[in-house]
Amino acid sequence: MTRTDHAGNEAGKVYLLGAGPGDPDLLTLKAVRVLARADIVLIDDLVNRAVLEHVRPQARIIEVGKRGGCLIYKKSTPQAFIQRLMLRLARAGHVVVRVKGGDPFVFGRGGEELEAMRAAGIACEVVSGITAGIAAPAAFGIPVTHRDYAVGVTFVTGHTKNGAGPNWAALAATGTTLVIYMGIANLAGICADLLAAGMRADMPAAAIQSGTCATQREVLATLGSLHRAVEVAGLSSPAIVVIGEVARLAHGAQGENHASLRAA
Ligand code: SAH
Repeated sequence: MTRTDHAGNEAGKVYLLGAGPGDPDLLTLKAVRVLARADIVLIDDLVNRAVLEHVRPQARIIEVGKRGGCLIYKKSTPQAFIQRLMLRLARAGHVVVRVKGGDPFVFGRGGEELEAMRAAGIACEVVSGITAGIAAPAAFGIPVTHRDYAVGVTFVTGHTKNGAGPNWAALAATGTTLVIYMGIANLAGICADLLAAGMRADMPAAAIQSGTCATQREVLATLGSLHRAVEVAGLSSPAIVVIGEVARLAHGAQGENHASLRAA
């Protein structure tokens, strides 16, 4: 239930808002409306600061990035601290907008924050965003579920909470396009595991860094050559890795791998 203050204004509520993959035009209309109502904005470091143009000048903006730039903690803001801060601000009657890259429920810890708000009885609404796993491949011309090439898509992280990693052999067997978030650091291991599971070395594979942003860079290769190609191109995080036949539809890439994939 939404509480209102004496002026009838909405109060004491948390929004978990997805800001999309980077291009500020990929913000939803709902996100724009909610940002305009914010008293306090807690913003992640991956989010394009251009979205803040929709925030009222009197709103307070708190950087809660995990990788520096945080105004509260010098280097990083632990998740527990962010959640306590959200609770405290919402209990004080503020409209708190937690802004995350992409979609808040896709590898964004939005689920944990929703649970924490629910447990504390704080009203919490999700504003879905466009996830990088769809938009970054699309910005490189890759339709993740083109029906001529894939029966579906699997979103998976290359970097799990306990470090164990997904079951790559099982994933290789699904025949779905694999869209890997946070996969760059462990790319050599991921590709080796997929090859060991029997996936073809000439399976088209792509990596897209900062998809939909002005700084977007991308590589098109094969499963067998992707790690080296990413290294040579100097691609780094944030990047999405796409492994599957759909990657051969990528456009705009340079180099022989691209040419040979087109010819294949
Ligand atoms: N909630 C986000 C994902 C957060 S996890 C979403 O739905 O998109 C962070 C990871 O997302 C990064 O390590 C990277 O793998 C991916 N990512 C986020 N933005 C990206 C972008 N613009 N281009 C490529 N990958 C991106």
